[in-house]
Amino acid sequence: MGILEGKKGLILGLANNKSIAWGVAQACHKQGAELGFNYLGEQLEKRVRPLAEQVGATLIESMDVGEDAEMDAFFAKVEEKWGKMDFLIHSIAFANKDALRNPFSQASRQDFQLALDISAYSFIACAQRAAGIMNDGGSMVTMTYLGAERAIPGYGMMGVAKAALEASTRYLADDLGHSRGIRVNAVSAGPIRTLAASAVGDFKQLMAKSARGSMLGRNVSQEEVGNTTAYLVSDLASGVSGEVHYVDAGFHVGAGDPGE
Ligand code: NAD
Repeated sequence: MGILEGKKGLILGLANNKSIAWGVAQACHKQGAELGFNYLGEQLEKRVRPLAEQVGATLIESMDVGEDAEMDAFFAKVEEKWGKMDFLIHSIAFANKDALRNPFSQASRQDFQLALDISAYSFIACAQRAAGIMNDGGSMVTMTYLGAERAIPGYGMMGVAKAALEASTRYLADDLGHSRGIRVNAVSAGPIRTLAASAVGDFKQLMAKSARGSMLGRNVSQEEVGNTTAYLVSDLASGVSGEVHYVDAGFHVGAGDPGE
């Protein structure tokens, strides 16, 4: 019997079969969860729907997390379809490419607001709606990166957004833990080649450095991030909340890249 048997959960942020959300979806499906997904626009629906169907999704609906009305409509559909739910996985981020490529000191107010809105506030916006229909003792997980606490070349604006996301994780955990017994955690994944990652400058070099500097001497897979996320939303992690859990083959606690 899987560790998520009998649980219903939303996975937000599936774009294609390279997405971290796809690794999470496969792991949660393997562990027996019933899953629901969003997609961003018709273009992505064509990719998301067949993948979601492969893991037996019972809910596949459109939602742009930049729009409150779309979020309200999406969560109303979740409630209508499922009644209650048990877990939420937020795997969404966005920043203008230029905001990551230009010198950080030149950041515009508009680029800052967009990156923080879609990559950090959206977790709070999803959490507040999901909590309303979540069983007590439910669980939420978001995806973050080491650039939240270190200045990683090419990550700039997204690092600031991830710092806000990690702080939001702790405050959500405190709020929803006390009021509802809901656990909230973040998974800090090592670099994985995805659509979103292609916006990060010198990503190839970042991956090579991460592999060399990690304790396992390699990068991590979507599957590994997915398995850890499945554990975090399961009852096996019932005592874990407010945590940033690294799935980076030990890179963040290592001595760094020996090639440097
Ligand atoms: P991805 O491109 O597959 O996923 C990003 C998702 O965000 C896409 O599905 C996209 O549709 C969605 N999205 C963007 N704007 C949206 C909006 N307004 N409304 C709804 N959805 C929106 O890339 P990924 O790498 O799988 O990214 C998933 C998460 O993992 C992100 O938070 C990313 O920062 C994080 N992360 C990625 C890496 C990596 O190396 N790939 C490492 C650590 C953390």
